[in-house]
Amino acid sequence: MKKSLSIILSLMMLFSVVFSSTVLAESTYSVQSGDVLWRIAREYGLEWEELAEYNALENPHLIFPGQMIRIPSEEAVEEMTEEEVTQEEPVVEEEPVVEEEPVVDSTQLTILHTNDMHGFFIEGAYDGMGAAKLAAYYESVKASNPNTLILDAGDATQGHNLVTLSEGENAMPILNALGYDAMTAGNHEFDYGQDQLLDNIALADFPVLAANIKDEDGNDFLTPYVLKEVDGLTVAIFGLATPETKYKSHPDNTLGLTFDDPIEVAQTLVPMLRDQADVVIGLVHLGDEGTMTSVALAEMVEGIDLIIDGHSHSAYENGNTVNETLIVSAGEKTKNVGRVDMTLVEGEITATVASLFTKDQSLELIDNAEVADLVAAIEEENAVIENEVVATAPYDLNGEREFVRTGETNLGNMITEALLDISGADVALTNGGGIRASVAMGEVTKGDILTVLPFGNTVRVIEVTGADLIAALENGLATYPEPLGAFPHIAGMMVEFDSSLEAGSRVTSVMIDDEAIDEEAIYSLATNDFLVAGGDDYTMFVGANVIAEFGAMDEVLIDFIAENGFDASEVTGRIQDVSEDAEEVPMDDAA
Ligand SMILES: [Zn+2]
Repeated sequence: MKKSLSIILSLMMLFSVVFSSTVLAESTYSVQSGDVLWRIAREYGLEWEELAEYNALENPHLIFPGQMIRIPSEEAVEEMTEEEVTQEEPVVEEEPVVEEEPVVDSTQLTILHTNDMHGFFIEGAYDGMGAAKLAAYYESVKASNPNTLILDAGDATQGHNLVTLSEGENAMPILNALGYDAMTAGNHEFDYGQDQLLDNIALADFPVLAANIKDEDGNDFLTPYVLKEVDGLTVAIFGLATPETKYKSHPDNTLGLTFDDPIEVAQTLVPMLRDQADVVIGLVHLGDEGTMTSVALAEMVEGIDLIIDGHSHSAYENGNTVNETLIVSAGEKTKNVGRVDMTLVEGEITATVASLFTKDQSLELIDNAEVADLVAAIEEENAVIENEVVATAPYDLNGEREFVRTGETNLGNMITEALLDISGADVALTNGGGIRASVAMGEVTKGDILTVLPFGNTVRVIEVTGADLIAALENGLATYPEPLGAFPHIAGMMVEFDSSLEAGSRVTSVMIDDEAIDEEAIYSLATNDFLVAGGDDYTMFVGANVIAEFGAMDEVLIDFIAENGFDASEVTGRIQDVSEDAEEVPMDDAA
């Protein structure tokens, strides 16, 4: 009798040990630099000893940035306390029989993910953490959990001159050094043409995925999926590319290729992968705008454990769950790294936690020297290209802050005319705050243009109503004559405004193609991706239908100047204050 009681008690203990260490984990916390265990514990209303025991920490004073601390649920804490009581029970005499035998097979899988990095591998003041910090973070996470996969959801090789000057080629050694396990082809990976894309892929130490792109013979153009073995688990990762690539990259770039409906492709592929793998991950470049979105994929296709998304530059702090599929996305331009911590018990996922590691958090990391050197070497190589002369300017082109934020300038006009020219849109608008320098008369180098437009913003064409366009102009003129980064540089329209009227109702006339603007009509507007994302308070553009996408603004301007010279830089009085006390616009002045 006594013996059977002790067996029952022992079984209960075993149950509580197993249970508390696996099933009841409520969440995980990623250790930041400077963290100490007692402070983490206090955040969750726990004692540090409880956390140390629960995580089986040998030395609770030694925790590392990136290390995962599992936070027990209340029930688990109770179980732990009961367990202690049980241990003190004098009835139990044969407890060593069941001590600490690992009965369940539990694995922690960590997935680090990026998307839409757009070549921002240099740490920037306004943008991302850069590749050297990424490497430092990846290293620290891998040190705390070797079962770590590093994945990218596309648009990594285009956008910043660091990689654009080499047609994406220089992105590859950086991605290799960062240790990526797989990436998906974003639409911008096609911007240099198919041959260059394949050349770039040949340099990668990892597969570049897309299951829905077929060549002329109906064969897969890229690798559709990859199976990775991680600590005895099989993880299937399949790629999907956006069919928008057909028109968001130059049509020549996808000639002969077919982009199949990603959802239909996944409906066939996922059940097949499900049979072979413990975890199925969709590494997709679909985004959350339009029709073929990551949300639609999760809704229409059963059995995907995790979707890592790119294309819309969305940052989800803790992911979104749709139809039992977790969708994550980490923003853009290395501003964040996404992180997913999965607990698997006997091959089944029992807990998943999504979080973002931000640029602010990265500031305390020390650059990975090898990757920093690699980036520096590419910058040096690029300096030669940046010295290349693209044209000779007949006069100074005005990009001075106090001018481009208060009115039309010859440089601003040339930029908007270039946007209009490449896109064939009805009108063009860009923000004065995005024009960062002047160009002096004489030889103009690529580097000069990069200094004018250093952000790597890309040209986007959206559909807007006449009313939205007026609202956009009002936004840019809100503080006039005070300088404003949002000040609109325009092409394809003539605008009059009255600065003596209240902000928000200053625009008195907008003429497009010699006709007054129609508030209800839809116009195509060429602008930049920053404003489409609502930058400089252009919130009326957020969620607008994107109908075309082109390269970086600096490249577009370089090509435009090389072809057309400087004629389009003429100051025409296209945006004018008509209030009584307005100063005459000096038409002959270069400003
Ligand atoms: Zn994209």
